[in-house]
Amino acid sequence: MKKFLMVIAVLALFFTFPFSGSAKRVKFITIGTGGVTGVYYPTGGAICRMVNKKSKEYHIKCTVESTAGSVYNINAVMSGDLDFGICQSDRQYQAYYGLKEWKGHPQKNLRAIFAIHPESVTLIATDKSGIWSLKDLKGKRVAIGNPGSGQLGNSRDALWLAGLDEKKDIKAFYIKAVEAAEALQNDRIDAYFYTVGHPNGSIKEATAGRIKVHIVPIPNVEPLLKKFPYYAKTYIPKKFYPNLTNKEDMIPTFGVKATFVTRADMPDDVVYAIVKEVFDNLETFKKLHPAYAVLTKKNMLEGLSAPIHPGAMKYYKEHGLDKYLKR
Ligand code: GLU
Repeated sequence: MKKFLMVIAVLALFFTFPFSGSAKRVKFITIGTGGVTGVYYPTGGAICRMVNKKSKEYHIKCTVESTAGSVYNINAVMSGDLDFGICQSDRQYQAYYGLKEWKGHPQKNLRAIFAIHPESVTLIATDKSGIWSLKDLKGKRVAIGNPGSGQLGNSRDALWLAGLDEKKDIKAFYIKAVEAAEALQNDRIDAYFYTVGHPNGSIKEATAGRIKVHIVPIPNVEPLLKKFPYYAKTYIPKKFYPNLTNKEDMIPTFGVKATFVTRADMPDDVVYAIVKEVFDNLETFKKLHPAYAVLTKKNMLEGLSAPIHPGAMKYYKEHGLDKYLKR
């Protein structure tokens, strides 16, 4: 009996302190991304890959979650359901200052870490729909983004630019981008908006079917740039999608940046570890997706509007990068 109790006691001790000595408890972190055919999902994977390589050193295990997109990610990070999130720079700005979906509820505990790839407002339409400019959306079946996505706001701004009313002038669909490519090829919609980095799986899928499609150029965006500080003029290279029927090599539109965020109470050492692994190994990171080709340490600190998380700031100061943080 005595022996039996001893064994129980030893086992109990083992299960209470499974890693004896100096071993630290592993911290599990989750990054909120987007649909699996977007660029956020592989981006979450790329960030996790960089830190998971050093799991033993940092005691961090990073995983990703596919989500509804930017707005969902910000809200889930703020509520504690997610630890980190990827979100559009315009959404970061709106959340921090209490605009649009956050009207009257500024998210003052939102913290910026770094910016990632540029994202373009991408309007893709079937050739037979006759949609060759924003104005042609009138009367058409258009997927403008699911609730929780970043693009829903950008599509609305594009409609505003064209003087179109979401309720009266178009037949709006609120399906996820991950479903939109198939809906386009099945002739259930005429066009869809997706704010996304290029190349991506969604536009590849949309151009791979029987129905001929093109990206609609959005050339005259000056009124938008004047009204909203977070938009920039961008171009989508046709070369990523050889099946597009577009004639031009660079299709004009407007866009934002993908950014990486967390909340103020995230431990500094966890944020520091992620920033260190991504920035120390930026050339390796950049190889993980073609949309990262343009990344530099400088432009990864541009387009952030929430305060920088102190764990990230520590790294930027140590490496003299904080001078790039234009506020
Ligand atoms: N920009 C999109 C959003 O915020 C997601 C794009 C992506 O998943 O790459 O919802």
